[in-house]
Amino acid sequence: SSEFQGKHVTVAGLGVSGVPAAKVLHARGAIVTVVNDGDDARAREQAAELEALGITVRLGDGATLPEGTELIVTAPGWKPDKPLFLAAAEAGVPVWGDVELAWRLRGPDAAPWLAVTGTNGKTTTVQMLASILKAAGLRTAAVGNIGVSLLDAVLGEETYDVLAVELSSYQLHWAPSLRAQSAAVLNLAPDHLDWHGSMEAYAADKGRIYEGNRVACVYNVADKLTEDLVREADVEEGCRAIGFTLGTPGPSQLGVVDGILVDRAFVENRQKNAQELAEVSDVNPPVPHNIANALAAAALARAFGVPATAVRDGLRAFRPDAHRIAHVADLDGVAYVDDSKATNTHAAEASLVSYESIVWIAGGLAKGASFDELVAKSAKRLRGVVLLGADRALIRDALARHAPEVPVVDLDRTDTGAMLQAVTEAKRLASEGDTVLLAPACASMDMFTNYNQRGDAFAAAVRELDA
Ligand code: ADP
Repeated sequence: SSEFQGKHVTVAGLGVSGVPAAKVLHARGAIVTVVNDGDDARAREQAAELEALGITVRLGDGATLPEGTELIVTAPGWKPDKPLFLAAAEAGVPVWGDVELAWRLRGPDAAPWLAVTGTNGKTTTVQMLASILKAAGLRTAAVGNIGVSLLDAVLGEETYDVLAVELSSYQLHWAPSLRAQSAAVLNLAPDHLDWHGSMEAYAADKGRIYEGNRVACVYNVADKLTEDLVREADVEEGCRAIGFTLGTPGPSQLGVVDGILVDRAFVENRQKNAQELAEVSDVNPPVPHNIANALAAAALARAFGVPATAVRDGLRAFRPDAHRIAHVADLDGVAYVDDSKATNTHAAEASLVSYESIVWIAGGLAKGASFDELVAKSAKRLRGVVLLGADRALIRDALARHAPEVPVVDLDRTDTGAMLQAVTEAKRLASEGDTVLLAPACASMDMFTNYNQRGDAFAAAVRELDA
């Protein structure tokens, strides 16, 4: 019998994490009730599937705490200030997220977790890490928000030596007992503040990833906030703080020297004080923020004992996912680049610094962000800007303050078809040698289903121009 036998568990939210969570809890003898805000066709379909198993589902009511609830397992996106959680706190009912559930359900011989969080670069870094671990002959998978789901990785048939785990700040918020073997916080910039309530709360949730680390806490030398989180974390004895930097590395750091990625933290040959890992050109694409991601991945892999050659081979084998600085086409000497995944200002800044002369397509849902810093830093690279989407006025106002001379086309549109007009206007603004860059600095849901669809619309529009 399991610790869930006969226990009243409420699963908050259907969807990618809720449905499998409900199933596994039910299979382990829990009395499961699923509550869900929405009541649409998709929800009804999922509800029917669960009800057929004997699970109770309440559609259209995610606020009320079901009578007798002893534990809530929530979808990570549910906001902590929801009435359901306030009622739970009042009743002393613990709340776990999908990550906490997976962590608790893992077997005694489970593979250790190498965990990655940060405002931007998580997916890329975790995929690079998995690629490096594979190159070292280890059985591994990139899991979390990507690829294999955490529950599947923990409960499935497959055996792993080690897992490369992507964790969002939401997931960390709801994962109090998680203990990664090593973890990295890539960077910390304001994002999702409407969810967490404040920058401090957001940073504190990200910092949980270091709690209880046994081998290494990997931080970004250029981002002092990440180093502060390491200092504040309660780790196991012997756990090391390892920095990564785009500059020359100090002791216990990985960095770059003369175009070579160099490790001064885990040196194999005691005669030397540094270990060469790979060339910058092995990183795909070799733009600054991506080299930082590669160094973070290398640090976690090296902490796990992976040899230098596997770091090089793994980086060479890595291919970035779609919509992350994807080169779409060259037309009349102008490059068209899709970085639709730049859904916040910090990500957009990383892609804007990667090009010299840019016609920038931006706008969408701002999620409470301010655009002043981004625009001020990028002003000298901008040849023109095309704005679309719900919160474009915020960007337009920041441009007026910090880049008044840059021509701006405000499309005043939030329909899906606006992307074709945006690309047409961008082409008009661009001259030979420029890059037309879709890096919206905003979420996509005002106009599109997700950033994939937005990036696809951009690529389709570029192809139409070419036709
Ligand atoms: P995440 O999983 O954290 O959303 P991704 O790897 O999917 O991160 O990249 C998201 C966006 O962030 C991309 O558009 C990319 O341009 C940008 N980005 C990637 N790595 C970094 C980084 N280290 N710093 C800043 N921006 C980054």
